[in-house]
Amino acid sequence: MAEKFCVSCGRNILAIKDSVVFKCPNCGSEIVRCGICRNKVVKYTCPVCGFSGP
Ligand SMILES: [Zn+2]
Ligand SMILES: [Zn+2]
Repeated sequence: MAEKFCVSCGRNILAIKDSVVFKCPNCGSEIVRCGICRNKVVKYTCPVCGFSGP
């Protein structure tokens, strides 16, 4: 299983509960977000197309 890193803070999400992986609504690329950033409602930015959302 490949390691995944939060797009907002760079943490390895395997060590963080409530982490999510979802598709960018704009381009469909995989976006990884850790539970810490979800709790803080940190904005994410797609690394491929630059789309950002809540
Ligand atoms: Zn994070
Ligand atoms: Zn995108």
